[in-house]
Amino acid sequence: MQRVVFTGDSRVDVREAPTPEPNVGEVLIRVGASAICGSEMKRYRAPDALPGNPGHEMVGEVVESRGDTGPAVGRRVAVNIITGCGDCAACRAGDRRFCADQGYVFNGHAEYVVAPAVNCLPMPDDLPDDDGVLIGGDTLGVAYHALARICLRPRDTVAIVGCGPVGLGFVRLLAFYGVRVIAAEISPQRRDLAKRVGAETVIDPSAGDALAAIREATGGRGVDVGIDASGSDAGVNLALDAVRDEGTFVFAGAGHTATINPWTQFLEKELTAYGVWYFVDRDYYGLLDLYRQGLRVNDLITHRFPLAQAPAAYDLFDRGETGKVIFTPNGASEP
Ligand SMILES: [Zn+2]
Ligand SMILES: [Zn+2]
Repeated sequence: MQRVVFTGDSRVDVREAPTPEPNVGEVLIRVGASAICGSEMKRYRAPDALPGNPGHEMVGEVVESRGDTGPAVGRRVAVNIITGCGDCAACRAGDRRFCADQGYVFNGHAEYVVAPAVNCLPMPDDLPDDDGVLIGGDTLGVAYHALARICLRPRDTVAIVGCGPVGLGFVRLLAFYGVRVIAAEISPQRRDLAKRVGAETVIDPSAGDALAAIREATGGRGVDVGIDASGSDAGVNLALDAVRDEGTFVFAGAGHTATINPWTQFLEKELTAYGVWYFVDRDYYGLLDLYRQGLRVNDLITHRFPLAQAPAAYDLFDRGETGKVIFTPNGASEP
């Protein structure tokens, strides 16, 4: 089979590799759609090569099963990629995210991938692969998980800072909820996307005082909820400073550090902050309910590539101007 290999220094190859073999408790999945995630880009730019790829948002059809339970051969599935020991308090409670011995299912950018049967999320027949890869992955999973945790009221205004795929997922979901969204993003292409998927106001932080613009859009009060989905120091600080007194802040941009001021940004404002880490299986089923109620997700995808064009796909995604970019490793049909 073919799979993407990270060769270091912002380069990827597509190479022949043996089709992986499932062990006991695992299934072999023929990948229908696999999405590039912003969280891969640190590895992509790193100088050292990887034996495989960090693809971790994938859906497909089970073609071989060595699990006693779990999806049967022929079943289409998404994959919750967090694995656990199966025996600690967190795993027994059904939340592998807090297992001390956790791992991840990677190598999704390939024709076939192996996953534990317990990690498979069954897909209904009417959910196409490319909608499924958003609903069954962290693009919408993180946004849904965050919004399920915070207290959100219909009259609230929410600021999303950073409109990469996860930020766009937040915008789409909040717009579906009927909540007013202000989006801040430096890429003009992504500002256009944010507007198209439901942001009422879009702001360019590189063009002037973004905080003043957000305050102006909220009558000087600030937003009820500020969400950082940028993964940058400046983004965290903008989203934090935009929140009104007694408001809510969500850390949703992974893989970075930021310098913040507990005194002025949290204590004086009596702010409530949430950290959001991936999603849990129940979030997938919640998103499926919303999908049934009319939540559209397909327009979050801006580009589709066969696996053979992976170098061009990464090159494009790395410019930070796209929505979601997906591979169709087995030539899945476009919608
Ligand atoms: Zn991801
Ligand atoms: Zn465990």
